[in-house]
Amino acid sequence: MATLFISDLHLDAERPDIGAQFLEFMDSDACSAEALYILGDLFESWVGDDDPNPHYAAMKAAIRKLADAGVPVFFMHGNRDFMIGEQFAKETGATILPDPTVVEIHGDRVLLSHGDLLCTDDHEYQQVRAMTRNPEWQAMMLAKPLEERLAIAGAARARSQQRNATLAEDIMDVNQAAVAAIMAEYGVSLLLHGHTHRPAVHHFAQGAQEATRIVLGDWYDQGSVVRWDAAGFNLECLPR
Ligand code: MN
Repeated sequence: MATLFISDLHLDAERPDIGAQFLEFMDSDACSAEALYILGDLFESWVGDDDPNPHYAAMKAAIRKLADAGVPVFFMHGNRDFMIGEQFAKETGATILPDPTVVEIHGDRVLLSHGDLLCTDDHEYQQVRAMTRNPEWQAMMLAKPLEERLAIAGAARARSQQRNATLAEDIMDVNQAAVAAIMAEYGVSLLLHGHTHRPAVHHFAQGAQEATRIVLGDWYDQGSVVRWDAAGFNLECLPR
C-alpha cells in the first residue's frame, strides 16, 4: 500500500472542478492508501473553523469519510489555511502536524513542510508569516465577527495576488541555503514540500551525501500527488 501526499489544491467554490477532482480522489486513490498527508493550502482561504461555507463543508465531509474508513489523514497548515484549528481536526478526524515534521515512510526518514518557511528571499512575506502565525494575532482575528474576517481575508488575497504578479520568479522559490540548513538540522536526506507550485524532483549534494527535494504541484489544472510505497516515491500528475 502507498502513502499519498498532496498540497496546494486551493479549494474554492469559484473553482468547482478542483473540488470535484478532490472528491473523486478521496473516493478512489485515497481509499486504498496507507495514509494521506495534506501539506497545506488545501483551501484557498480559511478565516476560522466556524465558517459555514457549504463548499468547504462538503470537502470536510470527504475527509471525515476517509478517516472513518480507517485511512489516517494528516494535515499541515499552508499560508492560505493556517487558521485551521482543533474544531476542524475534530470534525474531519485529521491530525494536524506542525511545520516541519519528520515522518518515516516505508523506512525512509522524510522531512515534510508546506514550503513557505523556506522562501527566505521574500523578506516581506516572512514578516507577515511571523505575525500571522503568532497565537495572539490569531486569537485577535478569531474574536472578530465572521463577516469582518471574510472581508479582511478577501483584501489580503487581492493584495498578495497583486504583489506576486510583480515579484521576481526566484524570490518566490525556496532558498537553497535554507533547504540545506533545515535538512541538516533534522538530519534527513529527503524533503517533501509544496507551496511553490513548481512540481519537480531535485537532487543535490548535501555534504558527502546525495539529498533529494520533492516538490508537489498545485491542482489548478490537474491533480498532483506523491505516491510512496516500499519501492520508493513517485511524483505523479492526475489528469482532470
Ligand atoms: Mn502556499
